[in-house]
Amino acid sequence: MEAREIDNTTSDSGADVLGTAVNHLERQLERGSLFTHTAIGENTLRLGEVESFTYGLIDALISKGVVSSEEVSEAATSVRQQLAGNGEMTGVGVAIRIDKPEAAEREPARVDCASRLHICHAACCKLDFALSTSEIEE
Ligand code: SF4
Repeated sequence: MEAREIDNTTSDSGADVLGTAVNHLERQLERGSLFTHTAIGENTLRLGEVESFTYGLIDALISKGVVSSEEVSEAATSVRQQLAGNGEMTGVGVAIRIDKPEAAEREPARVDCASRLHICHAACCKLDFALSTSEIEE
């Protein structure tokens, strides 16, 4: 691990600013973790329900001789291939935006969030849209 020097010359106001920034970052991480936990939890619950009904239905149909297990297996493979082909396989709903190379040359939009936060309450953080990797790092 790399050793870091601690700057003891930081003024009280500098420490306050740093403390506030760290608190904001901690809150963002906490919210991000809660969102991820909720998304995974909801997906798991829904997946459990779908599994119960699907396996129950398959068992009932096979036991009544309506379909064979081979027919079910073939149909499942076909549906899986269609979903994958359409990009509809399930996930946790996390997406990263891949921009075209020319987008890197565009001047990024600068918004003075600090002066607007008391009005907007970071409404943008509640919207569903994909960020690029550089936006995530910022
Ligand atoms: S909504 Fe988001 S981007 Fe807009 S000012 Fe507020 S924090 Fe900044």
